[in-house]
Amino acid sequence: MTKFRGATLLAAGLFAGLPAHAADTELNVYSARHYQTDQRFYDDFSQQTGIKVNLIEGGDSALMERLASEGANSPADVLILVDAARLWKAEEAGLFQPVASEVLAERIPENLRSIDEGEGSKWFGVSRRARIMVYNPDKVDGEWVRNYADLADPALKGMVCTRSGTHPYMLSLIGAMVEHLGAEDAEQWAAGVVANFARSPRGGDTDQIKATATGECGVALTNSYYLARLMRSSNDVDREIASKVEAVWPDQGGNGTHMNITGIGVLRHAPHRDAAVRFIEYLTGDQAQRFLAAGNNEWPAVASVKIDNPALEALGDFEPDPLEIGRIGKAQLEAARIVDRVGWR
Ligand code: FE
Repeated sequence: MTKFRGATLLAAGLFAGLPAHAADTELNVYSARHYQTDQRFYDDFSQQTGIKVNLIEGGDSALMERLASEGANSPADVLILVDAARLWKAEEAGLFQPVASEVLAERIPENLRSIDEGEGSKWFGVSRRARIMVYNPDKVDGEWVRNYADLADPALKGMVCTRSGTHPYMLSLIGAMVEHLGAEDAEQWAAGVVANFARSPRGGDTDQIKATATGECGVALTNSYYLARLMRSSNDVDREIASKVEAVWPDQGGNGTHMNITGIGVLRHAPHRDAAVRFIEYLTGDQAQRFLAAGNNEWPAVASVKIDNPALEALGDFEPDPLEIGRIGKAQLEAARIVDRVGWR
């Protein structure tokens, strides 16, 4: 981690136009997002502000357990998690405190922040990913797989692959279906998807893409960055896999494609609250937004920031679902009940 370098860098930060805050000199970050490239924004933040970043990375459950056991003595200032389902869980566990920040309100679209109950939001989306479909054109006609609803169409019997319905990525998509269709129709849809399975759910999203490329599955669900990662891989085999599937932006002309986020919130017992807010504000800057998106083939949360990613460009433009991510997170309770009842294991 970058060491505190004193007045020179602090002055550099001021020249860069960052607002002056109280004089925290350290920031403790717990992050469940671990990409090598994330180090760039931690270092850049330290350089701009003179605030030393201490980073602890871990799995989401491990970090949440750690925070629960540390309680009011926790040294952690901010928590970074991926997916609405996990952010909402952390919010429900009372881990975050609300933050009212003009910078954040202006930069982060309202649907990408937790629902503000008057004191500010408890977490903020800082990058975006889409949950898309991929299909094998030798097995499935592209016309059959335009919308999430199609995955429940009996025409796709024996064709559909997904990871377990209990995974946060699936709970969020099913939660979005609950928000759009109501619980009853969402359950009917989920039962239809399960009836169309090519195999019992196993593996992660990349495994679904691979099994679609080999023809074991006709169509599968995946987060967009897993496909982009294969498309941009230096390994020929990965690129070969990506070339064998077609990508679909689901629900164009309908609700739009289901979106999710990497999000961050200030922890309730943050010892360095000012540095924590300043860090999240920093993450909404143009450069940090590009670092965040580039690290995992995602899109910036800040709409005005443009990125250069050949794989995402190759996938073309799409309409995202504007549904509030906070509502999706909350709907995971109903989604989990549905997963149970329809046996989406
Ligand atoms: Fe992932």
